Amino acid sequence: MEHFIDVVLPIPLEKLFTYKISEQESDFLKVGMRVAVPFGKSKIYTALVYRIHNSPPQVYEPKEIHQILDDRPIVTAVQLKHWQWIADYYMCTLGEVVRSALPSAFLLESETLVLPNRIEEIDESQLKDEEFLILEALRHQSALKISEIVAIVDRKNVLPFVNKLVEKRAIQLKEEIYEQYKPKLVRYVRLGEAYDSEEKLEELLNSLTRAPKQSQVVLSLFSLQAKTKKPIKVTDLEKESGGSKAVIKSLIAKGILDEYQIKTDRVGYDGSGQIQGQISLNNEQQKAFETIQNSFQDNKVCLLYGVTSSGKTEVYIKLIEQVLSEGKQALYLLPEIALTSQLINRLQAYFGNKVAVYHSKYSIHERVETWNNVLNHQEKAQIVIGARSALFLPFSKLGLIVVDEEHESSFKQFDPAPRYHARDAAIVLANFQNCKCVLGSATPSIESYKNAKKGKYGLAEMKQRYGSVLMPEIELVDIKEATRKKRMKGHFSERLQETISEALNEGEQIILFQNRRGFAPIIECTACGHSSQCPNCDVSLTYHQFKNQLRCHYCGYYMALQLACEACGNSTLDKKGFGTEQVQQELELLFPEAKVGRMDLDTTRGKYAYEKIITSFEQQEMDILVGTQMVTKGLDFRNVSLVGIMNADSLLNFPDYRAHERSFQLLTQVAGRAGRTKKRGKVLIQTYNPYHQILQQVSSTDYEKMYEEQIYEREQYNYPPELRIIKITLKDKDYNKLNEASQWFANSLRNVLKDTVLGPEFPVVSRIRRLYLKNIILKVQKEKPVAQTKNSIKRIEKSFNAISQYKSVKVIYNVDHI
Ligand code: ADP
Ligand code: ZN
Repeated sequence: MEHFIDVVLPIPLEKLFTYKISEQESDFLKVGMRVAVPFGKSKIYTALVYRIHNSPPQVYEPKEIHQILDDRPIVTAVQLKHWQWIADYYMCTLGEVVRSALPSAFLLESETLVLPNRIEEIDESQLKDEEFLILEALRHQSALKISEIVAIVDRKNVLPFVNKLVEKRAIQLKEEIYEQYKPKLVRYVRLGEAYDSEEKLEELLNSLTRAPKQSQVVLSLFSLQAKTKKPIKVTDLEKESGGSKAVIKSLIAKGILDEYQIKTDRVGYDGSGQIQGQISLNNEQQKAFETIQNSFQDNKVCLLYGVTSSGKTEVYIKLIEQVLSEGKQALYLLPEIALTSQLINRLQAYFGNKVAVYHSKYSIHERVETWNNVLNHQEKAQIVIGARSALFLPFSKLGLIVVDEEHESSFKQFDPAPRYHARDAAIVLANFQNCKCVLGSATPSIESYKNAKKGKYGLAEMKQRYGSVLMPEIELVDIKEATRKKRMKGHFSERLQETISEALNEGEQIILFQNRRGFAPIIECTACGHSSQCPNCDVSLTYHQFKNQLRCHYCGYYMALQLACEACGNSTLDKKGFGTEQVQQELELLFPEAKVGRMDLDTTRGKYAYEKIITSFEQQEMDILVGTQMVTKGLDFRNVSLVGIMNADSLLNFPDYRAHERSFQLLTQVAGRAGRTKKRGKVLIQTYNPYHQILQQVSSTDYEKMYEEQIYEREQYNYPPELRIIKITLKDKDYNKLNEASQWFANSLRNVLKDTVLGPEFPVVSRIRRLYLKNIILKVQKEKPVAQTKNSIKRIEKSFNAISQYKSVKVIYNVDHI
């Protein structure tokens, strides 16, 4: 009998591919293992086994696999089922899901670059011929592709050799240039063996009387040991004793101290925090907890709607505790920007080293480590806290998914495919895993709240802040009048200046929110009105004062600021709009004695940059923090009494049906950073339009009213959640071709589908990275089986692809576009 496997290749290919395997291979292979397979003329890919069977493909002669890469599955059957669902629902290929789900270190391919590492240290007598050849080549070349290595060793199957050399650390793969994989070693110290008796110790201390620094270090070591009873890190000893590296080094050299190293899991918990005792829930929290339990009993998802600082985290902790006690795993999902060390520390303080963190700022190796820990149901990955991609981890016994800040639109992946919504995909996963799911927010999304209201979800509410802390007082400041009367200093109304002064005098901290980064988004010529445009995208460049540059926020293009208008030569350029950088600068003029920090995309690029700013603000090294969206999420600062919103109008005027919902959520969340302790916090919202209904609803914290109004509008104008939106984007370099092609596509859709087809229409930014964009919006009735609509769309795409002049046009689907 012949044996075959169907595999998923990590590329946008509709179909599975079939390869031939031997009898032994067939006995060994299991679904979810990786194999290296040839594909196309000379490429080798890592593919995932999807099915093992005995029927040869009808239309092509199957190739043989190159190699088996795992000795057991790294992906579970439930995962594959979930990924297939994502591919079907979000209209992409399973390969695209696999590519985005697996840590890239799992996906070796023939384009992977191989680089020399420590060739000199390798014992050549231990090498196989092929390994030797590869290293020999790398002595003369700085990098090789896998395909080149195939040519050099003259064998098809080179991955085993490459892997062996990686193991021996003779070579490294391209991804590792930036993040070389070493188990992380941490240096510890203890007292040298010679000093293990009391007498010897005394002798030692006596002998050190004339070396006070050294004796201080030894004494500090004692006191640390007495305190923690755990191994002492060199860095901790340095801190505790105030002794320099040199002093410690000389003690080690003398044998008084003994240095040793412990291999630590780089994603692990360092055990340094205090383990917190039991949490006892207050009445409201307890009631919410019980409501959630009850809806779990009815097999329902539960929405936890709790105002900011009501203690949702504590409720989650109780829920997590419960599933852990049943021997199950828990997943805590957060939007990327809300995933802060503050929250991680809180969970670790409670659960110690059972907490693992998984997100994109971690290296590929850290991600592989966590992947394996989850797969093996390791103690240290019983709770995974992560951004949306944590949804793809190989949980074997998942008991609970928490989706915190469920209203956040950044749960939806925008680019590349799969363009999935992590909250929705989490609910489906919970269903497949037979596990519980709780969604939490202080400002639930309209769709989740609707589901809760009609009983599809359970609803648990918490309306009080924890510890009888009051909700902040919200004041709207009309800056239209002030501007007319020229009573503004820069972007600061008198009222805002006044309250800032008061807070500073009280030694309290302040957060100022401005929706834009950079200095003044646009520089405009006062004579002709020209502003510099990005050559690749249909947007104006924005001014960044720090580097004195104009930059494109879409593609990263930049140029030096021009002194005169490019168009008319006039030298009076004016700044329009304003960003965080300008707010910071104005503050420095208005309050020269205050320490001002800034948090936006520009100041938080490095892995720990974000944490540094938060910590520094937490430690009160700054008085005022100016920031974008980033300051709104899940942060818990004790000493912030005032939150200022520089300008609410730019949020409200955004041309999108969700603009009002979003503004309400964002403003409520920022406001929620104020007054998290006894003293009532204050929030000032500067606006040209203080009577705007959303601002009124924010200032009276009237979520219900906002909800009722928004639902009414959505029903009137046919928007979600009443129906589903599928956005189809077509892209091409050629403007005319794109127009024609998108018209063809839209017409075909109109012919076949009864649903509303809108467009094609150019989006607000109609050209990005040299490609023109055009959108077609499809509004699909909820009652209709959506699979049918998608099939029709796919059929139309097939005919579209058959038209030769449209070949270059890219088609992108975004299901449930938000
Ligand atoms: P939310 O996530 O709802 O905004 P948090 O969970 O951050 O609220 O809670 C706000 C503050 O109140 C935190 O500092 C938290 O430690 C504290 N807190 C809330 N509930 C409790 C509790 N049951 N016991 C002790 N502290 C609590
Ligand atoms: Zn650009």
